[in-house]
Amino acid sequence: MEYKIKGIISAERACECCGNNRLERNVVLADENGELMYVGSDCAGKLVHGAKKASNTKAVVKEAEFVSKCRELLTKYSHAEVKEYIGRMTTNGQRYLDRLAAVGLS
Ligand SMILES: [Zn+2]
Repeated sequence: MEYKIKGIISAERACECCGNNRLERNVVLADENGELMYVGSDCAGKLVHGAKKASNTKAVVKEAEFVSKCRELLTKYSHAEVKEYIGRMTTNGQRYLDRLAAVGLS
């Protein structure tokens, strides 16, 4: 199963992966069927990058924060402006496409 990062929010629910209910934030992921999943950052790192370890947690949180920031920008700026911003902040072509898809701009 492959998961896509959809954003990060203040924790509203227990991790849907391990049940931990003492979370500060939920990372929102979407599975291959587009089903949303609310998990803790450690489990998000494992689901997206394959293993529960600090570097994966850090990477997934950073990307989720970026996606959430782009979503927030979309409430204030045009699609074209947000696309330009994502392009400026993204070096890798596939990652650019993933980020566009994550905020619904692809
Ligand atoms: Zn968990």
